[in-house]
Amino acid sequence: MNRPAENVAACSSEPVRKLFQTTYDATNQCVQCGYCLPACPTYISMGKESASPRGRINLVKMAAEGKIDIQKHMSDPIDLCLGCRACETACPVGVPYGQIVEAAKEAMAKTASDKQGAMKKLVLTKLFPYPRRLQMVGNLVWAYQKLGIQKLVRTTKVIKAFSVPMAQFERVLPPLESPRKRTERGTVLPAKGTKKARVAFFAGCVMDAMMHKTNRLTIELLTLVGCEVVFPKEQNCCGALHAHQGMTEQARELAKANIAAFEQAKADFYVNNAGGCGAILREYDHLFAEDEKWLQRAKDFVSKSRDITEILVQFGPLPFIKSLPSVITYQDSCHLRNVQKVSKQPRQLLQSIPGATYVEFAGHDSCCASGGIYNLLHFDESMAILDAKMENVRQANAATIVTTNPGCLLQMQVGIERLGGTKEMRAVHIVEILAEACGIN
Ligand code: SF4
Ligand code: SF4
Repeated sequence: MNRPAENVAACSSEPVRKLFQTTYDATNQCVQCGYCLPACPTYISMGKESASPRGRINLVKMAAEGKIDIQKHMSDPIDLCLGCRACETACPVGVPYGQIVEAAKEAMAKTASDKQGAMKKLVLTKLFPYPRRLQMVGNLVWAYQKLGIQKLVRTTKVIKAFSVPMAQFERVLPPLESPRKRTERGTVLPAKGTKKARVAFFAGCVMDAMMHKTNRLTIELLTLVGCEVVFPKEQNCCGALHAHQGMTEQARELAKANIAAFEQAKADFYVNNAGGCGAILREYDHLFAEDEKWLQRAKDFVSKSRDITEILVQFGPLPFIKSLPSVITYQDSCHLRNVQKVSKQPRQLLQSIPGATYVEFAGHDSCCASGGIYNLLHFDESMAILDAKMENVRQANAATIVTTNPGCLLQMQVGIERLGGTKEMRAVHIVEILAEACGIN
């Protein structure tokens, strides 16, 4: 068997060699059976081996052995992976695909020329780790919506001339809450009725600036089921996008900031409402496998991390006061289902809404192709997967599509627009529909 250190390509620098040494054994666990292929949305959509989990694992293995060039041969197939990790759940031998692909991304980032992905790096290092800067972006978007500029932009179709993907997503931007409303939150919010637990709320960076209403409603629902809610002020971006883009060091720094901030809260659970953020929060220990000092603290953080739906089921029932006579369906967040293994609780909550009829649609458990910023970077590939999914939603006659992740929510709204279904269909975060049935908005 080739060992990566014995046979590496000339392009592989020392850090890349080291990186592959830890991943190489994981690639060897793959027995090439192909059971993961029918679970992979990019393989189904593109129909080629290099767009499948097995093909990608082989490419990483060959790169580690120095048989292929990272940028020339491995980079595109890995970039086209959604990171949904449906392949992990289908794999009979437990190949840790998530770890393999993240090591591959890190190797790609380390061997990329400075010009490649410069804009992406700028946004991830200069914007996401700074909550105040994101709130300023939120203020600008709020002013853009309030001052009538949005209307003008839509009428003149100016964004479309610049970028079709941006124009598509601009159309589904949610109305932002005012800057005052976004900053008036207290640090400790009391439970309503008997206090059952003390929970610390993870707000998310983009979520808190652009979908603040969902965060506000999440806190209200938590207090309604008897949770005292603490808001750790020093919390930061979860680091998921950084990790998925190969910027592991930055992801580690963000994880350290969050671990330290949440330790101060002295809470029973750490609650989030975004499947994508929640997945990395639950895998913070993977980031510190070689750092004993932080590993135990990361493990403690992981053991307390929960999705909002788990907490609402554990401490509920919610005090519903309104009937919502609508056919509702649920699009699983891949990171909630495949990484956090949470799929029953959202359904249980939706099925308990008075007056609503719950239906499943075919393919609810496969990725919507939002994939963090995949839909912006690979628009055509993403839309091909989304359009096929929306046909299934139409077949199910659902009027409300519920999701548990902000990226999936925007993607489903784009899907409804592309389907021409904006008059009869809507997409909402699960927190919004539960709050609606509880009579809060
Ligand atoms: S993570 Fe998703 S898109 Fe990537 S190989 Fe696995 S199943 Fe396919
Ligand atoms: S990743 Fe798992 S399911 Fe896919 S080919 Fe390898 S062993 Fe089989």
